[in-house]
Amino acid sequence: MNKEILENISVLYVEDEMDVREFTGKLLSSLVKKVYLAENGLEGLKQFKENKDTIDLIVSDINMPKMDGLEMCEQIRQINKETPIVITSAHNDPNFLKKAISVGVNTYAMKPIDLYQLVESMIKAIEPIYLKRKLENLNISLETRVDNEIQKLKSILDTQENIVILSNNETIKNVNKRFLEFFEVDSIEEFTKLSDNIFDHFIEEYGFISKSTLDKQTCYYEYIKNLREVDRVTKMKNSKGEIRIFTINVDNYDDINDFYVISLTDITELKEKSNLLEYQASHDTLTGLFNRNKFNSLFGKEIRRALRYNTSLSLVLFDIDLFKVVNDKYGHQIGDEVLKEISTIVSKSVREHDTVVRWGGEEFLILLPETDIKGASIVAEKIRTTIYENSLTKMNLNITVSFGISILNQNDNEDSFITRTDEALYEAKRTGRNKVVSKI
Ligand code: GH3
Ligand code: MG
Ligand code: MG
Repeated sequence: MNKEILENISVLYVEDEMDVREFTGKLLSSLVKKVYLAENGLEGLKQFKENKDTIDLIVSDINMPKMDGLEMCEQIRQINKETPIVITSAHNDPNFLKKAISVGVNTYAMKPIDLYQLVESMIKAIEPIYLKRKLENLNISLETRVDNEIQKLKSILDTQENIVILSNNETIKNVNKRFLEFFEVDSIEEFTKLSDNIFDHFIEEYGFISKSTLDKQTCYYEYIKNLREVDRVTKMKNSKGEIRIFTINVDNYDDINDFYVISLTDITELKEKSNLLEYQASHDTLTGLFNRNKFNSLFGKEIRRALRYNTSLSLVLFDIDLFKVVNDKYGHQIGDEVLKEISTIVSKSVREHDTVVRWGGEEFLILLPETDIKGASIVAEKIRTTIYENSLTKMNLNITVSFGISILNQNDNEDSFITRTDEALYEAKRTGRNKVVSKI
């Protein structure tokens, strides 16, 4: 017999016969947590009303003065439908039992009271409630634990600068605060009203992950997960319409297959910065042309390519005539303007595959692939006449430029090719300036 069930319960015991009440009451006290005693139905009802939150079980006699047991049960049932009731009775006829059932009595123990039988009846009556409560407590503690875990996880995710998404292969299950802010929505539901999936927001652009790249895959997340880090990059527009760049990281959630944690890190500034650094490292600040660094990294390659495919490669080196005089006469600032204007003229005069470089102070260089000496000469002449005849005369500066041109020989290396072109330029300076001299 499961007596432990009784240990924590409080019992209301109603019995009019004093010696039975005292004897049984004492025995019950040794089995349960607390016993409330009452002498008749009326008193029993009063005790119940006063202690209805603590009384777990009622044991009551039937025949009592003032109010009998069944009447009391009937009234108690109007206040409380659940508290189990055990009646003790000498009656055993069907009519009595019918009435007992109709007033909501759970079970009964025969009189004279056999303690063993009474306890068994009490357990039988309380057991379903006991089990129900136990289950409820278990559920509550389980729910609280799960809630706490989710809350903990959410607060961690919410502090993340990254956009974080928990998702299975089909639908988004959870997102963090940053996600809601980015798309300016209050909930996942609001987001999914606009689009099923985060991928719908990936902008189509070459070199970035987009919906059309993903549509060819069976599992989007597995596909992204297996990409190299440099390829896990996408672009999305935020609620303000700004396009931002993200790296995507995909992990399985714990060891559950088909459940993923997707984290999107905004690298827009980083990308801009790295582009800027890359730009600064390869370009001249004043003119925006390539600098010598960049030229050095291209020159060798262009020479090897021309030699391998047996194509022409020409070099034009030019220098502003008597630039020192310009600076002295008009100031350094005007001198800078001249350098910028010449750069613009040169950039407009060459083809896409030609490379224009600020070689030094007022010296420039143009590398012309697949161009023979005649072609190089045409380009140089065009630039010379444009500078001489047009733009700069507007400033009344009478700027002229001298050119040295050369073409790559079979035996050339970088140094010999440059040196020969420089010699041609020197020749142009020596023989009167504002001219193009070629040296083969
Ligand atoms: P030449 O015809 O022989 O080339 O005479 P030049 O005066 O141009 O030659 P020189 O080498 O004597 O002087 C070059 C001048 O270019 C001196 C220098 O102050 C000027 N220069 C170099 N870089 C810059 C620049 O970035 N801005 C300005 N304003 N002047 C520069
Ligand atoms: Mg784990
Ligand atoms: Mg000069």
